[in-house]
Amino acid sequence: MGFEPLTELLGLPGYIVKAILKKEKEIVLTIERVGFPICPICGQLFMKAPKDRRLQKVEDLSIFGKRCFLQIDKYRIECSCGYCGAEKIEWLEKYERVTVRYQKWIYAFCKRMTGKDISIIFGISKHLVYRLDKESIQKEIDAQKSIEPKRISIDEISRKKGHRYATIISAPNERKILDVVKGRKKADLTPFFKGKGSEWCKGIELASMDAWRAFRTVVTTYCKNAEVCYDHFHLSQHFSKAIDKLRINEALKAEKTDKEVYKGSRWLLLKNPENLKEEQKTDLEKLLKLNENISIAYILRDKFREIFKAETVDDKLHRLTDWMSDARSVKIPEITGFLKKIERWEPYIRNSLKHGYSNAFAEGLNNKVRVIQRMAYGYKDFEYLRLKIIQQFNFRDVRSVFD
Ligand SMILES: [Zn+2]
Repeated sequence: MGFEPLTELLGLPGYIVKAILKKEKEIVLTIERVGFPICPICGQLFMKAPKDRRLQKVEDLSIFGKRCFLQIDKYRIECSCGYCGAEKIEWLEKYERVTVRYQKWIYAFCKRMTGKDISIIFGISKHLVYRLDKESIQKEIDAQKSIEPKRISIDEISRKKGHRYATIISAPNERKILDVVKGRKKADLTPFFKGKGSEWCKGIELASMDAWRAFRTVVTTYCKNAEVCYDHFHLSQHFSKAIDKLRINEALKAEKTDKEVYKGSRWLLLKNPENLKEEQKTDLEKLLKLNENISIAYILRDKFREIFKAETVDDKLHRLTDWMSDARSVKIPEITGFLKKIERWEPYIRNSLKHGYSNAFAEGLNNKVRVIQRMAYGYKDFEYLRLKIIQQFNFRDVRSVFD
């Protein structure tokens, strides 16, 4: 009986369909090699079929709404080149239970869906999905051209609320993640810079980062030409924390009758005023009228934001100096605490003001990472989280699996 049309449709080079078995939910095609087994190392043909062979069932892309499996006799060869193992099959990787094109499909889905959903839809185990995804990401990483950025950004992300950190090293101008490492200590980041080599490190001219000493130490150790910049967006986060602390402390001291005004005021203070709704604006005004310290802090925060909005570098630097002298005249411990930091960090803030560039990439980083973390299985496996972050930022998304 002829299976030529089916062989043609199957389209696996070097193989023909010999038999079909149709079950309720799956179709099993028995296929056979035409020609001779090939050594994967030296490419030698085996004219005399090796005796040792193994029947294997591998999954291929579904056909006609049923899962499709291929039954294949895989030869084990002993080659004169010294190789000993399975023959070469172009469309099936060694030890793999699914075809190369099946893996590509799963990978495409993995860019868009959670592993759990894919495992349900395809009826395969979560572990298989994760493994296929991880392997494919690694392949895509290996195929990438290496980036030699002039500017890098170092940002920490928390893997769990408040503890267990990871650090993302990115190239914001190229909009690429360079790597994700576990932890945020100097020792955690050192392997990255060592691995990149001294030439690569010499090429770094700017390193923006959060004001975290270990980041600065590692950059000044390995990237001798890099100017360290503390960015607006990180500084604002520190300022927000200070204001939040002040709000909590003031609320504790407040008269019973005034407590209501403090309630739910967190976002009123932290949000940019232009993003507040009318009724929130009224609530904010009430709070600012009631509490002088919060009101002063709020004005200072506004002024702080204005530093970075100035048109020229000179103007920005002047505004920083002005802001610091304003803050020095204020006797609010939370503000003074923040000012002390600014004083310590001043040279790095000035560097940042000198090189006015967009921070949009680094700013968006945290939110996007949070989405990735939520989408995924808790990512107990750090290596998988790392790969997934790289995948979601660096690689082209899929539009359709048929592309
Ligand atoms: Zn060989």
